[in-house]
Amino acid sequence: MHEVVIRNGSVLTSEGIIEADVSIDDGVVTGLGGEIAEGVVEVDAKTCWVGPGFVDIHTHLREPGYEWKEDIASGSAAAAAGGYTAVVAMPNTEPAIDNGPIARFVAERGSTAGLVDVFPAGTITMGRAGETMAHIDELWDAGVRLFTDDGDAVGNAAVLRLVMEYVAQLGGVISQHAVDPSLSLAGYMHEGAVSSRLGMYGIPSAADHVVIDRDLELVRATGVRYHVQHLSSAGGVERIAAAKAEGLPVTAEVTPHHLMFTEEDVASTDPDFKMMPPLRRSEDREALVHGLTTGTIDVVATDHAPHAALEKEVPFEHAPDGVIGLEWCAAVVNGEVGLDPVTFFDRMSTSPAAIAQIAGHGEPLSVGASADVVVFDPNQTWTPTTSVSKSRNAPYLGRSLTGRVRATIHDGRVTAGGG
Ligand SMILES: [Zn+2]
Repeated sequence: MHEVVIRNGSVLTSEGIIEADVSIDDGVVTGLGGEIAEGVVEVDAKTCWVGPGFVDIHTHLREPGYEWKEDIASGSAAAAAGGYTAVVAMPNTEPAIDNGPIARFVAERGSTAGLVDVFPAGTITMGRAGETMAHIDELWDAGVRLFTDDGDAVGNAAVLRLVMEYVAQLGGVISQHAVDPSLSLAGYMHEGAVSSRLGMYGIPSAADHVVIDRDLELVRATGVRYHVQHLSSAGGVERIAAAKAEGLPVTAEVTPHHLMFTEEDVASTDPDFKMMPPLRRSEDREALVHGLTTGTIDVVATDHAPHAALEKEVPFEHAPDGVIGLEWCAAVVNGEVGLDPVTFFDRMSTSPAAIAQIAGHGEPLSVGASADVVVFDPNQTWTPTTSVSKSRNAPYLGRSLTGRVRATIHDGRVTAGGG
């Protein structure tokens, strides 16, 4: 008798997709194929894709400092519900994750919650203030591999270059919130036809482009691995394509909300469509979908950004930026982009794990490998109405989605769905 058996799924293996059962015992995959004995827990995976648990390299867990929005336990539960087995926690907490002890605290809180592996990102600058280098060496020793001042772009090119040199030597990755504040701070949404119609101050796509252009010059100088967060524009996708063609060590992510919505949705002035960078034109959305399909965009990252109702349910201009997305990201990607299962697992699991250097996640299933597994039904349609996050700032609630996580298994234990 096995601890867990996943029956009749289309399983991602190193030989591609095969129809098989999977058995799991003591945290590892113990069998893959046919004729597998009964499990204490049996997961019916008929019509489902079975592969490595999703990895999100852009999650805001809000702890320490903003526990009324989310904490590491509640954010981990949302991640597990969405099929994730590992997340990278953004460092814009209070205090910020700019030193070793705080990074260790976040990772330990993640282990205590025990639902996903939580890998803290570290800041680029002290307190995310953009002025002096964070304790990069301490952060590295605490296991940090991804460095970002997310929430803000690093404005000071000299400081960024210095940190890039350090991180390049260590072998980590710089992950940039590529939005120029001097072009974005006055605005609330994409600068274009809809912002004109609404009489709302806009944020031009150039806000993203000027940061990416500057940073690529610093990447040429330092050789650092460089990742662009939440691409929002066709021009951003073009820049990543050109940088890759040039041979630069560059990767990029897109969020589920930028794959699903556009500036037209902002016309509702529902604050759940307010985020940074903003939702842009339908041509931009199409370029993001195409970029993810072709691989110019390497990964989908949620930018799961919880805000309490009392903060978000205010006039659009006053609302904070960001939406939650961990629980519906896979469904949005499946429904909006329609990837084949091999590409789907690459963008949701394998490539994110590679960018953030997360071992033991993102690999095709094999006997002996750690049992971090998701069972995803790409055909089920459903309408989410609630969330296990502490916050509800989700534009997906009440909307029909195609694709649903049937079970998530982390370290051999069913953490969501199942039975
Ligand atoms: Zn950001």
